[in-house]
Amino acid sequence: MKKHNFYAGPSILSEFTIQNTADAVLNFADTGLSVLEVSHRSKEFQAVIDKASALVKEILDVPDGFHVLWLGGGASMQFCMVPYNLLARRAAYLDTGTWASNAIKEARLFGDVDVVASSKDAGYTFIPKGFEIPEGVDYFHYTTNNTIYGTEIRTDPKVNCRVVADMSSDIFSRPIDFTNYDLIYAGAQKNLAPAGVTLVIVREDALGKVDRPIPTMLDYRTHIKKGSMFNTPPVLPIYSALQTLIYYKQLGGITELERRDLEKAAMLYDAIDNSKMFTGTVTDPADRSIMNVCFVMKPEYKELEVAFIDFCLARGIVGIKGHRSVGGFRASLYNALPIDSVRALVEAMHDFEATH
Ligand SMILES: *Cc1c(COP(=O)(O)O)cnc(C)c1O
Repeated sequence: MKKHNFYAGPSILSEFTIQNTADAVLNFADTGLSVLEVSHRSKEFQAVIDKASALVKEILDVPDGFHVLWLGGGASMQFCMVPYNLLARRAAYLDTGTWASNAIKEARLFGDVDVVASSKDAGYTFIPKGFEIPEGVDYFHYTTNNTIYGTEIRTDPKVNCRVVADMSSDIFSRPIDFTNYDLIYAGAQKNLAPAGVTLVIVREDALGKVDRPIPTMLDYRTHIKKGSMFNTPPVLPIYSALQTLIYYKQLGGITELERRDLEKAAMLYDAIDNSKMFTGTVTDPADRSIMNVCFVMKPEYKELEVAFIDFCLARGIVGIKGHRSVGGFRASLYNALPIDSVRALVEAMHDFEATH
């Protein structure tokens, strides 16, 4: 049976990405070798990483003065690399969930951190608004999409300082205006590639402004200078990322990706809002993520949650269990998820409701 894959990460990849990666594991670029067993410095792999970086720039319309890097260590490594390289004295952070607060914890090792607002007391079910960023901070850090709670900020912040964003779970779902950004990072395993590589887009002139010595591997300038080849990069995830990027371009780029994402999310939120049994955990539509849709059963049906997960499993619908810290359900609607999978989930909700 075809599976409908709603996992939050690692998560669904396009058939195009999976098939081409599988082919290259067997025979990479007609070398007669697997992509797993050729030098990262071969001309064939150099072409892969160059093309992947060029496509990131093309698809996201990245302006001159920014570099595209492919790094190891996951998005979590960026929680410390960002302040290591950019936090001279003081930075502002928005606390919208676990990932944001993990980033805050690391930044505090390097300087003063102003947490400008937090929705922690409300279980991170909304995006704080109307906060002020103090004058003179080195940057403002925020998480665009809160994967665990299903909240999202889909507009680039209008602030009086440079911005750093963790876009791990919604990159390539909307256009980005790079004017205010110093740096954007995204672990690949949600909208791009298998786990193991992190995409970083960094403004060159944001670097070199801190006095502290930076270990070679943690210094963005090392990776800029060496084209992400200072050491062996995660070759397989980068190969897969290239396939995803080719696929994104073929589909019609960001405009088409965003259109599809909005359509899928609207279909599911509509079903939740019109249900007698289910209810969304993020109530303000403006804050709702189009990537991770979080919902629960209303109190009078609460004891049916496990049964619903089993009901879905029997229909090939996998990965809808909510994050262990939140409970309930979470359906992740990443770019590679076909709208038919959303339809299948909505149908399961209707059918389950009708029989209980
Ligand atoms: C998944 C996720 C992370 C953590 O990524 P790792 O690559 O596992 O370190 C960080 N931030 C956000 C928003 C995420 O969704």
